Amino acid sequence: MKDLLLSPHFKLAEFERSATATKLGIDNHVPSQYIPALQQLCKEILEPLRAFINSSTPPHKGEEEGVIIISGYRCPLLNVKVGGAKDSQHMTGEACDIHIPVHGLTNGQGQRFTNTDILNRRFAWIMDHCDFDQLIKETSDRRIYWIHVSCKRDRTKNRHQVIRFLKKRGS
Ligand SMILES: [Zn+2]
Repeated sequence: MKDLLLSPHFKLAEFERSATATKLGIDNHVPSQYIPALQQLCKEILEPLRAFINSSTPPHKGEEEGVIIISGYRCPLLNVKVGGAKDSQHMTGEACDIHIPVHGLTNGQGQRFTNTDILNRRFAWIMDHCDFDQLIKETSDRRIYWIHVSCKRDRTKNRHQVIRFLKKRGS
């Protein structure tokens, strides 16, 4: 299952990976009933966004390809541990948090984060081009931002809700 591809460029493992789950010994494998929702998220949002980024700013040599999943699926216990909302769409494979690496910016753990201008432009691109449920720009402090995006399995239920700033306890 480790290398299962959800779409041409996104692996299931990218959505299961969690430093908190590893640290606490939580099994964060995605139950099979949520895989179609993750596939939908890849198809509707992540693949088009990745294609756009790579066509507008080709990745630097040796760098990742433009869309990094910070937090994908969360089992209910992991969701509690990271301070997620009680009804978080991360628990059903309908949501993920992403950043778009740009050389230079890092947080204290050496992870690269996107400069705010570029993140804002990607945010606007998703807003204008994708069929999403919720699109939220989140931060845990004043320097580091990421994008939370969700997509309902039943597209007709997508609310197209945009929140430009949300302060979180953790990521
Ligand atoms: Zn999120």
